[in-house]
Amino acid sequence: MYDAIVIGARCSGASTAMLLARRGHRVLVVDRSSFPSDVISTHFLWPHGMSYLNRWGLLEQVLAVTPAQTEIDVVNDGIRLTGSVPAELLRAYFRDLHGDDSGVVRTYASIRRSVLDQILVQAAAKAGAEVRTNFTVRDLIVEDERVVGIRGRTSDGQLVEERARIVVGADGRNSFVARTLKLPKFDERPRCTFAYWSYYSGFRPETAQLHRRGRLACAVVPTNFEQNMVLVWGPSEWSREFRADVPGNYQRALDFVSPELGELVRAQGTREERIYGTLDQAAFLRPLHGPGWVLVGDAESFKDQCTAIGMTHAFRDAELASAALDRWLSGGATIDEAMASYEGRRRGQDAAAYYDYVCTLAEMRPYRHDELQLFVALRGNQQEIDRFIATHADVAPVSEFFQASNLFLLNDAAKETSAGYPIFEDFAATSRMYQQNLFA
Ligand SMILES: Cc1cc2nc3c(=O)[nH]c(=O)nc-3n(C[C@H](O)[C@H](O)[C@H](O)COP(=O)(O)OP(=O)(O)OC[C@H]3O[C@@H](n4cnc5c(N)ncnc54)[C@H](O)[C@@H]3O)c2cc1C
Repeated sequence: MYDAIVIGARCSGASTAMLLARRGHRVLVVDRSSFPSDVISTHFLWPHGMSYLNRWGLLEQVLAVTPAQTEIDVVNDGIRLTGSVPAELLRAYFRDLHGDDSGVVRTYASIRRSVLDQILVQAAAKAGAEVRTNFTVRDLIVEDERVVGIRGRTSDGQLVEERARIVVGADGRNSFVARTLKLPKFDERPRCTFAYWSYYSGFRPETAQLHRRGRLACAVVPTNFEQNMVLVWGPSEWSREFRADVPGNYQRALDFVSPELGELVRAQGTREERIYGTLDQAAFLRPLHGPGWVLVGDAESFKDQCTAIGMTHAFRDAELASAALDRWLSGGATIDEAMASYEGRRRGQDAAAYYDYVCTLAEMRPYRHDELQLFVALRGNQQEIDRFIATHADVAPVSEFFQASNLFLLNDAAKETSAGYPIFEDFAATSRMYQQNLFA
């Protein structure tokens, strides 16, 4: 009999298992994968994601093999904003959500999942969790309408049964736990992006770059093995045409969104792997907990990749869920109290507003004139650029930055500087041009 069985041993599962084991609980964590291995992800970790690794004592191991930076370039329709997530906002984030602000770092990194997930799995084992890989969960044991364990198959075909006080579903967006319990999805957002990416050697950008033009976007981020992850994305309505010629349209999208990046990749880049892609990123939420089970990570909330937040959210869930479960397992709270505190922190207004922000961005509508005007107004205002980047990364609340009074203040402040507006005298023509499918 375990205290907890965790299904899934990647960002949310290995972390939850590690944190529970460190608090002295008897934990089994299983995964049908073996490690090291990759999973579909472009693996960018914002500074709060890096801070979680630092809080858990794992950051040094990651940084030994992964380049990290602090400043990021965000270029929207040619308007370049360079900044970083401020330390005071990171500290406020950790204090509000977790009650202490230890371990804050301002760096971000792009860590291949074969590297990161292996570090997490090893840390879970080192903390005392029993790790079984190549182990596929085939059934949940339910007694008196409560989940009390799992049945699964080992790599040599043996069927085994294990029991625990709680089963944690950290099993990704197609969660076996959720499907078996027939959990509903809610607030589904079918409109999402298509995303294609690969790995290039031969150049080294100084910072990560995020570019957006019209309905398309691209990014370049240095990653492990002296390579760069180069990603393009666009609205799912254009995916059929994009797929007709993936290598050609990938380069075409880069050239359109950022001619400099397109040229860098063409002239200096050597592609080291195939081009990976996904069309399936419709967002949804699921219930967080029930009798004998709790969900963390993508299993409870899946979102489009366009703000690169899923791994950081998986770490957040691991800290929140393990702290709540620890209070119950140690006798400091009833299970209902523990789960209510997890739910309260996970499903507050800020979380709902950020979910909406990601899902709206994922529709990839061309920026409106007032949105572009905001980017122009930000130029030269470093404090507010940094706050915008922190907001985009879900460190600062979306509702605060985008509230009308703040936008008025930003516009007023811009009038005092040389930034000025309006921008884009040919906005109407540009906007029409952006509606056309580049790949048709
Ligand atoms: C195209 C794309 C790009 C992305 N880019 C980023 C990014 O740049 N930054 C970012 O933060 N996030 C990104 N994400 C999101 C991120 O990858 C996920 O949010 C993250 O992987 C969620 O972690 P998880 O541990 O909850 O689930 P997963 O990583 O999906 O892990 C679930 C694990 O559960 C195991 N499992 C499932 N069912 C069973 C079973 N029955 N028995 C045993 N094991 C089982 C699986 O084998 C798997 O290892 C991206 C996602 C996509 C699709």
